[in-house]
Amino acid sequence: MHRFVATAAFAVAAAVVPVTVTGGASAETTEPTARLLVATTVAPITSIVANIVGDRADVRGIVPEGTNSHTFEPRPSVAELLSEADVVYLNGLMLEEPTRQLAEEHLRDGAGLVELGDRTITEDEYIFDFSFPERDGKPNPHLWTDPLLAVRYAEIVAADMAERDPANADYYAANYDAFADVIDELDAAMREAFATVPVRKLITYHDAYAYFAADYDWEIVGAIQVSDFEDPTPREVADLIEQIRAEQVPAIFGSEVFPSPVLEQIGEEAGVEYVDVLRDDDLPGEPGDAEHSWLGLMVFDYVTMTEALGGDAGALRALDIRNVAPDEADYPQ
Ligand SMILES: [Zn+2]
Repeated sequence: MHRFVATAAFAVAAAVVPVTVTGGASAETTEPTARLLVATTVAPITSIVANIVGDRADVRGIVPEGTNSHTFEPRPSVAELLSEADVVYLNGLMLEEPTRQLAEEHLRDGAGLVELGDRTITEDEYIFDFSFPERDGKPNPHLWTDPLLAVRYAEIVAADMAERDPANADYYAANYDAFADVIDELDAAMREAFATVPVRKLITYHDAYAYFAADYDWEIVGAIQVSDFEDPTPREVADLIEQIRAEQVPAIFGSEVFPSPVLEQIGEEAGVEYVDVLRDDDLPGEPGDAEHSWLGLMVFDYVTMTEALGGDAGALRALDIRNVAPDEADYPQ
């Protein structure tokens, strides 16, 4: 496991201070401080990391947008990125097991593997539910749709990057402070908008809002996607239609990444609006657009929920969607 000690030691030294050149030093030791190579997985985490590291490190996402991150298998070519990365930020909570395994096989000694979700909540805070049943052992991994938890991701990244790249520690800390302020504004706007929603009950296809609901006082009436990502059985569908009628929710929510004819049919039969645009790891817009960011994703989803359920999302629509540092990350499409 220590085959690459020399390389790793050099990388750390180079990141800390410019190496003093003495006579006969190899060409390697004359290189200036190198930007660290940071690998991330899903796009919202890539965006959070980009807000912290800005242009001081190279950030590369692994999971292409619009794919099912829960079943994603990285191509063998990802091994090359992982073998060169200084650190890999994963969501963890068993969301990206094939990518984590590939990282463990290929990361060089001294490189980091940081599972943000596992450092954010403890096991007694895991949420298990219909789509993520306890018997399968995988908790609901969607922490980043809850701004109160996403801010912890940013904090962990800022602290970890400061250790790996002390020369830029102040920059990362300042970006974290600015990002935390943005999240405070988002939090306030969400609470203002949600206060106008007559009944805060959520029925979704993809089960991505469990932690959000707990922190923002929403009730998850149901999520429909079963744990193997197949369609629900006719019995489950019938139960759900009954539940929707009983709960009297005016709208149910599909996912942009998981088109669901079944949910559409459920909406028709229950006589409620079917809104099929929510997203959890596919950012709105295109790379380079302001809304192509974690913040843009939050505003998009929570405006959609608020307005479909009869509330006023004005406070959310008024938010300035911005990154606090230049987002130069590579988002695979
Ligand atoms: Zn998801």
